[in-house]
Amino acid sequence: MSASAPVAIVTGGARGIGLATALALAEKGHRIALSDLDGPDLAAGIARLEAAGATVLPLPGDVSAFARVGAHAATCLDRFGRIDVLVNNAGISQPKSLVDISEDEYDRTIAVNLKSCFNWCKSVAPAMLAAGRGRIVNVSSVSANTGGARSAVSKFAYCTAKAGILGMTRALAKELAPAISVNAVCPGSIETALTSGLIAANREAITATIPLGRVGTPEDVAVVIAFLATVEPNYLTGEIIDVDGGQWVN
Ligand code: NAD
Repeated sequence: MSASAPVAIVTGGARGIGLATALALAEKGHRIALSDLDGPDLAAGIARLEAAGATVLPLPGDVSAFARVGAHAATCLDRFGRIDVLVNNAGISQPKSLVDISEDEYDRTIAVNLKSCFNWCKSVAPAMLAAGRGRIVNVSSVSANTGGARSAVSKFAYCTAKAGILGMTRALAKELAPAISVNAVCPGSIETALTSGLIAANREAITATIPLGRVGTPEDVAVVIAFLATVEPNYLTGEIIDVDGGQWVN
């Protein structure tokens, strides 16, 4: 791939929606910096991308660690010389209710799902502003707006973090304009490692609530993220797009 090709950082990119997004952006000619926890999933994700012909820089580590993320952004700039796209996708579920959750569990849920977005935006924005262009896409959830359904994999702490992402998206869209666009997607029921147990056990009931008649795939979300990350001309910022097959039409 050309040394002047655009560069996309995808967090939580080892599998699921993140990997599908990295593949979609590689397909559109981007070199990929893949941020995820160190381990077999990251190695497998890199292998999958390389098999598809992508140039990949692994960024192993926890997205909730501010200093580590700053070092990763510097590594990416050092290796590729530019950062065009940031996709804040890494996330964890939190199934505990208010009554059951501990303070540490609450803090961890906010740190991985929400503070990670601050860490990465803060670390890449200076380079994007200096270049006069950049695209940030944050991955929230329909549950930011709906609260967790009784059957949902995640409860209020996750919903709180995902709602915070929407506020951050709208505020940064104004603050970083016109150089950088900041948008978000809200996936609905997407079949990945995060949700496969729940979906397998309730497929008929879940499908019955989705007007488009099926649960989503990682590729359903990736195509929308890739659109927000690359569409030209671009007149979209601060926008939130539900990718849920119409499940939460309101
Ligand atoms: P997934 O569990 O398959 O992928 C999440 C990735 O994030 C994993 O590779 C994981 O290792 C990584 N990750 C987790 N904690 C991390 C950390 N501290 N540092 C670095 N990487 C970390 O899940 P997914 O379904 O692909 O979810 C991707 C995003 O979409 C998440 O933010 C999730 O909340 C959101 N989402 C998913 C659904 C769904 O139905 N699957 C619905 C709404 C929102």
